[in-house]
Amino acid sequence: MGLNSECDIRVKPKRRESYVVVNAAILGTEKCDVAARLLPNLERRLKAESVGEVRFDAFTRGRYATDASHYQIFPLGVVVPRTIKEAERAIGICRAEGVAVTARGGGTSQAGQTVNDGLIVDCSRHLDRIVNIDVAGRRCVVEPGIVLDELNRALKPTGLWFPVDISTASRATIGGMVGNNSCGARSLRYGNTRENVHAIDAVLADGSRAHFGRLGDPSANVPPDLVRDLLAIAAREAEEIERRFPKVQRRVGGYNLDALVPSRNDINLAHILVGSEGTLGFSTRIELKLSPQLPRRALGACHFGSFHEAMKAAQHIVTLKPIAIELIDRTMLGLAADIDMFKPTVAAFLRGDPEAILFVEFAEDDFDENVQRLKQLGALIGDLGIAWDKTGARWGGVVEVLDAKLQAGIGEVRTAGLNIMMSMKEAGKPISFIEDCAVPLAHLPDYTARLTEVFEKNGTRGTWYAHAAVGCLHVRPVLNLRLEKDVRSMRAIAEEAFAMVRDYKGSHSGEHGDGIVRSEFHEMMFGAELVHAFADVKDRFDPHGLFNPGKIVRAPKFDDRGNFRYGADYRAAEMTTALDWSAYPGAGGGFQGAVEMCNNNGACRALAGGVMCPSYRVTRDERDVTRGRANALRLAITGQLGPDALTTDTMAESLKLCVSCKACRRECPTGVDMARMKIEFLSARTKKFGLSLHDRLVGYLPRYAPYTAKLSWLLNLRDTLPGAAKLSEAAAGFSAERSLPRWRADYFCDPFVADGEGAGGDVVVFADTFNRYFERETVDAAIAVLKAGGYRVRVAAPASGSRPLCCGRTFLAVGKVDEACAEMERTIMALAPIAAAGIPIIGLEPSCLFGFRDEIPSLMKSDAARKVATQALLFEEFIAREAAAGRLNLKLKSTGKRALLHGHCHQKSFDTMAAVTATLRLIPELNVETVESSCCGMAGSFGYHADTIDVSRAMGELSLLPAVRKAPDDTLIVADGTSCRHQIKDGTKREALHVARVLAMSL
Ligand SMILES: Cc1cc2nc3c(=O)[nH]c(=O)nc-3n(C[C@H](O)[C@H](O)[C@H](O)COP(=O)(O)OP(=O)(O)OC[C@H]3O[C@@H](n4cnc5c(N)ncnc54)[C@H](O)[C@@H]3O)c2cc1C
Ligand code: SF4
Ligand code: SF4
Repeated sequence: MGLNSECDIRVKPKRRESYVVVNAAILGTEKCDVAARLLPNLERRLKAESVGEVRFDAFTRGRYATDASHYQIFPLGVVVPRTIKEAERAIGICRAEGVAVTARGGGTSQAGQTVNDGLIVDCSRHLDRIVNIDVAGRRCVVEPGIVLDELNRALKPTGLWFPVDISTASRATIGGMVGNNSCGARSLRYGNTRENVHAIDAVLADGSRAHFGRLGDPSANVPPDLVRDLLAIAAREAEEIERRFPKVQRRVGGYNLDALVPSRNDINLAHILVGSEGTLGFSTRIELKLSPQLPRRALGACHFGSFHEAMKAAQHIVTLKPIAIELIDRTMLGLAADIDMFKPTVAAFLRGDPEAILFVEFAEDDFDENVQRLKQLGALIGDLGIAWDKTGARWGGVVEVLDAKLQAGIGEVRTAGLNIMMSMKEAGKPISFIEDCAVPLAHLPDYTARLTEVFEKNGTRGTWYAHAAVGCLHVRPVLNLRLEKDVRSMRAIAEEAFAMVRDYKGSHSGEHGDGIVRSEFHEMMFGAELVHAFADVKDRFDPHGLFNPGKIVRAPKFDDRGNFRYGADYRAAEMTTALDWSAYPGAGGGFQGAVEMCNNNGACRALAGGVMCPSYRVTRDERDVTRGRANALRLAITGQLGPDALTTDTMAESLKLCVSCKACRRECPTGVDMARMKIEFLSARTKKFGLSLHDRLVGYLPRYAPYTAKLSWLLNLRDTLPGAAKLSEAAAGFSAERSLPRWRADYFCDPFVADGEGAGGDVVVFADTFNRYFERETVDAAIAVLKAGGYRVRVAAPASGSRPLCCGRTFLAVGKVDEACAEMERTIMALAPIAAAGIPIIGLEPSCLFGFRDEIPSLMKSDAARKVATQALLFEEFIAREAAAGRLNLKLKSTGKRALLHGHCHQKSFDTMAAVTATLRLIPELNVETVESSCCGMAGSFGYHADTIDVSRAMGELSLLPAVRKAPDDTLIVADGTSCRHQIKDGTKREALHVARVLAMSL
């Protein structure tokens, strides 16, 4: 649980092995005494002796108190070393101060491996170098913090890859994979991490460095007495290992003593460290075995009428020697089909109404051979009595997938499987504890059937998917761990499931490792003798429990609620919220449930692909990622960070770099919508402290713009008069390094009404504040194009003829929800009759237009608001829709140019990029290329603020600005967002255009 003062620090001397304190002399002292002695000294020394970033504040410790398991333990502090030497130094200080050390990579472990109450050493931010790549020898040496996808990206030109393709490849580190002996979907061919590790350099508990490699290899450098003792333990236990170690490929529980038994002729000492979960040493360099990249593959999606049928088929399908067989069930198919980003993929492979699908992948070097095996698969499934031509069948047969893009899409659905399951909004969630048991293939159908009965007996159900080829079944019973009765069910299910797995001679940990979840059950699975042997291994390496104590050996009870994220005394205080969170359970009208949707899986830590999370991509700081923010909010609203933590400056810092791009809304597999949560936070803070001058100027822009625009010449002096920009920075925080949007005297103010009969019908253009006052050309262009297309165009205006309408966006951006509502009400009142008449309401600025579909209906629960939401669409959505329906009568001529398109974050979040490209493609011969960009970095006022301009620029430099600079001079740069265009102009001196202007140029 939380920590509000030093005296709340939990030290657990009752355990056999001290968590925090490795110095036996202080075991058993009062916890406040221990904390008082340890904390200041440790922090002071770490800070004094240069070990990288040292953070002991409650927010940071809270962010590192959880991983992707259901546990939560506050560490004493966190160190983020910049070099291996700094990490070594931090470990040395911990040894001297009697504090345990837990290494951490992406923190995506599901069994609680990375939570502990000593010092956390975060390897993921800086310790991510590739030391060398030996292409001919197919090996490379890396530091532990490198992310798997990043490594494989770097390896791409060599034709090699590290083939342990785990679902969390976008954020899992090699150090973490080695720690957990992680296993990829294609482990049938490549084995687990262990089979792909040649050597490991590690710091040992006594501070010495060792090089673990093949026994007898001259480069191996491990203390000889340690080698001797380890081999002796393995030799002593050889028979028991043979008897008790499960003979399934997916066995990752316990220490890999089987790697050291005398009968082997390939003993590699590094393999005892693989899967040791950071309990034996701290890895500093890892030498990996690489494989040739996968050739062109063939994939079959086998549809089944029952889950059991699919399970039974797996053992037959393996005879065709596929590289992987992955199963997903009906629940997961349904959940995936409901998630925007997966919808098109599911539609592309799904036929009928199956209960389960097996994806079978063939990847031999010869593509024809793969196609041949796909045909054999169809025949085999037919022989099993399952085929499309069965009369009335709602399923049956194989959908062949040869298109690489669709294969990749299916891969994404499959790898997101766990998260998809977690997207359930109710208080009960699928819980990971028997999640990855592996049994011999022949027992898989029986095991699943019996497990279903166990779930039913305990009043719950499971969601399933599986690495069927290796008998590893991912199943999570739905439980609400806030309830004592569900905690009891968890134990009952675990005990029965593990007993079954043992009887099938399977492995209770087939992928995710031991951590706190599985370690307690080692005796049941391996027997008392081997558990003693594991303790011998631990004690031989680490006699005082310096490294990650309480994992693998001497673990706490897995259902000790004191270690739960949602413990017995976990609750959020009631609060009044500004937005509607009623889709979720919990306090604050559901705000609590929305925050708790984050299950810490870390997808938001991806460094490439997609959009989420731009601020993390720049800073690589856990504070600045969706997960870190969600954790900070959760801890704050549940009182674990001290009183009123929600509105503190530290919370403001935690959310400061969130650019409200809404990428998480779409890309977070459980739909964490941080942009919305930020509005809630800003609202609470603004209510308490009011607005800064900067925020006042940003928020109230739509109110004062009609007046100040008349003084455009005066206001524009800010960017020409020497010293004026500096003054605006000092007074209101507008960075002097950034020009401000230029006011203009000829702003758009016509209450424009087109004459005559538009054959295409009526449309209404919503002229937003930004385009209206700073870039009226966009509004003019949109009107011109729509008129040319045969539409009768009106511009939305208030009935009273008073100041222009506004969507409230700028007020939301600074947390003035009440003022935003006032704007929205005026606007909805004006637009309601238009919407009721079924007239399209066309917006130009994505962040304004999507307000009509997102925030406005959430704030105003009226029919009018809902109706306006259904009629509101972006200019390009309207044009593309009309063109597709054959109603668009627009004569466009070739401009003979190329276009480089940058999507506004909200266009990406609301999945409307296809409409922009479709609209641009109406222009004959225009070649459209889309930049693989995240947020441009400007994000409304974010890029103008002196505090955030550096991060803003760095976001632009991630991909957008370099791509624009590289584009030939005659390329049209297209960007629909006002701030995106400003960022492009500032960063590259190139002018970007709204798509409406590009179309207008081609009229
Ligand atoms: C949605 C989801 C899907 C998953 N899918 C898979 C899957 O397909 N296959 C699979 O095997 N796992 C899977 N996992 C589990 C997890 O992602 C993997 O185990 C992953 O390899 C962990 O990497 P990490 O960087 O997050 O490590 P962390 O969780 O940070 O750490 C893992 C362990 O390694 C130790 N460690 C880290 N760095 C060092 C170091 N330098 N020295 C010594 N010890 C160190 C830690 O102390 C810890 O015990 C999944 C998890 C989630 C949430
Ligand atoms: S915010 Fe979403 S993507 Fe990030 S860790 Fe939480 S659930 Fe995963
Ligand atoms: S809104 Fe954008 S910046 Fe903010 S947390 Fe989500 S992805 Fe990150």
